[in-house]
Amino acid sequence: MTKKVTAYIGLGSNMGKRCENIRRALALMGRAGGMEVKEISSLTQTDPVGGPPQGQYMNGAALVETELEAGQLLESLQTIEHELGRRRSVRWGPRTIDLDILLYGEEVIEEDALQIPHPRMHERRFVLEPLCEIAPGARHPKLKKTIRELCAACADG
Ligand code: ATP
Ligand code: CA
Ligand code: CA
Repeated sequence: MTKKVTAYIGLGSNMGKRCENIRRALALMGRAGGMEVKEISSLTQTDPVGGPPQGQYMNGAALVETELEAGQLLESLQTIEHELGRRRSVRWGPRTIDLDILLYGEEVIEEDALQIPHPRMHERRFVLEPLCEIAPGARHPKLKKTIRELCAACADG
């Protein structure tokens, strides 16, 4: 039996049909191989943070069970971003879809191309609120706090 890891993915879209983009990303994740989408939070509309002036986002979070290594999971998510028309241009600029790995089990990864837990997740209410719906008791392995605790302590908004 291959070891399965529970990972949490942050989803965001602020171009085109935002909910449809997120729904399509989740469907592609289910079909990509090596991961199963087990739970999805509700989607909420949020104001953009940083970057150029741009439209409001829809944000959500999903729980996936995966047999992929964290780096392979990132690659797979980036392929899906590309399939949904995401083209990298301005940092923090508008995008059809953004898929971030928030947590990967309780692993801590600090590489140039991949940091887990996502380094800004604890400062962002648009990440913590949907995540708290599906994983209030999940633990941030660096801050040693649960998502519920991080959400309560978040100064954003
Ligand atoms: P932010 O990371 O602040 O949410 P962003 O999502 O707009 O900003 P992107 O342009 O989507 O940033 O990603 C830039 C790079 O971040 C990616 O190419 C990827 O290598 C790297 N990265 C590092 N850690 C992660 C992670 N946990 N999940 C997704 N990408 C990550
Ligand atoms: Ca992001
Ligand atoms: Ca991203």
